[in-house]
Amino acid sequence: MRVRGRGLPEEAEVELWVVDGRISTEPVAGADTVFDGGWILPGLVDAHCHIGLGKHGEIPLDEAIAQAEIERGAGALLLRDCGSPTDTRSLDDRADLPRIIRAGRHLARPKRYIAGFAVELEDESQLPAAVAAEAGRGGGWIKLVGDWIDRGSGDLAPLWSDGVLKAAIDAAHENGARVTAHVFSEDALPGLINAGIDCIEHGTGLTDDNIALMLERGTALVPTLINLENFPGIADAATRYPTYAAHMRDLYARGYQRIAAAREAGVPVYAGTDAGGMVAHGRIGDEVEALTRIGMSPTEALGAACWQARRWLGRPGLGHGAPADLLCYSQDPRLGPDVLAAPELVILRGNVFRAGVDAAAGRASRPARE
Ligand SMILES: [Zn+2]
Repeated sequence: MRVRGRGLPEEAEVELWVVDGRISTEPVAGADTVFDGGWILPGLVDAHCHIGLGKHGEIPLDEAIAQAEIERGAGALLLRDCGSPTDTRSLDDRADLPRIIRAGRHLARPKRYIAGFAVELEDESQLPAAVAAEAGRGGGWIKLVGDWIDRGSGDLAPLWSDGVLKAAIDAAHENGARVTAHVFSEDALPGLINAGIDCIEHGTGLTDDNIALMLERGTALVPTLINLENFPGIADAATRYPTYAAHMRDLYARGYQRIAAAREAGVPVYAGTDAGGMVAHGRIGDEVEALTRIGMSPTEALGAACWQARRWLGRPGLGHGAPADLLCYSQDPRLGPDVLAAPELVILRGNVFRAGVDAAAGRASRPARE
């Protein structure tokens, strides 16, 4: 088949053929034109979501499949799963589901993350071995819980000491995996960044010093801006921990400003929704819109969920020979989430999914906010 339209960020004409699930930039005789006019993008990237995670942790595989189908309908064809208790590796055999880059299971300490989500290590010295074991599963990433409420002190606090982090991150890198961490507050950041972590999730507590450190170390940031809207609710629910509640409200109040400062300084920022757990699936369009509120242009924000994120994750765009994972839009996909998350055509591994037929399921189950 053949598609033609304009690409981004160049806005130049793109004409592609799809043969055996791959893109050809060379004409193919007898091709069926399935899209002509409008815009063509590589599949969107949700760089922080969870396929196989529900409100209480592990879920049945058919629910994980439904989550992945919603992402496909919204155009997210490459997902970086930032930790899931459900083993979803069998989904890789499904040609109709988005590609998933996995971080395995969250690594935490007992009672230092949401119950049922993480592998909980009794002693922090177990972390390097646990990281090596998760890396051995071949997902490509490791997910640490960097900070969480310490009910003893009644405030957010780091889970790991600096020396353990260095050994753990070294173990991941020796096993070919990159490492990221959940971090809401200030104190856990220097230890993680100095230990060579590859990415920070959320990052609401970034100080100017830590932003400088990220620049020096080449650390990326996935702020999951739409999930920041859950901070006031988390604070409201923490009636027994007033210091923690006040800290969460303060992080919420300063969050956009701190993420904007990181982006302004030159820290690479990518789009992730944190779908699964507290955020519904299929909201990559909303996250792209949120990124325009930290100073990104609509094109830059879209790149953070598309061509830039693909480059960062080592996955191709629309080049000759790349897997045929692409989206076709009759309207400019920078017009807003209603356009971006509703491509007319989703082409995944060369198979076509049409809006209103397959993709409609995802749109219908996309609540505005949970
Ligand atoms: Zn998450």
